[in-house]
Amino acid sequence: MKKNDLILAAAIILIAAAILAFQFFSQSDGEHRVEVTVDGESFGTYDLSEDQTVEINDTNRLIIEGGEARMEWADCPDQVCVNHRAVERDGESIICLPNKVVVSVESSEANELDGIAQ
Ligand SMILES: [Zn+2]
Repeated sequence: MKKNDLILAAAIILIAAAILAFQFFSQSDGEHRVEVTVDGESFGTYDLSEDQTVEINDTNRLIIEGGEARMEWADCPDQVCVNHRAVERDGESIICLPNKVVVSVESSEANELDGIAQ
């Protein structure tokens, strides 16, 4: 019984270590994407490793360059989104409140883990 407890404890530690290692590696070279939503509805998902320009309707222009995304232009009055720094890490986002545009960064690995957890 005691020996079994030790084996169980060792197994749990190993699994925890494996998950930590997986998260570490997926953060360092995981594939990051930005998801764009307009008024709560998905507009599109774009690969951060691919330089591109995304025209979001006629209200915002998102630039993806060098692994980060920034709002280059917007017709909103406050220009908060344009002045926001570029985003590149999981969970970072640029929000344009007047146009209800949300640009958020996520990694594909994190999404899969979320899917399993839910
Ligand atoms: Zn804006």
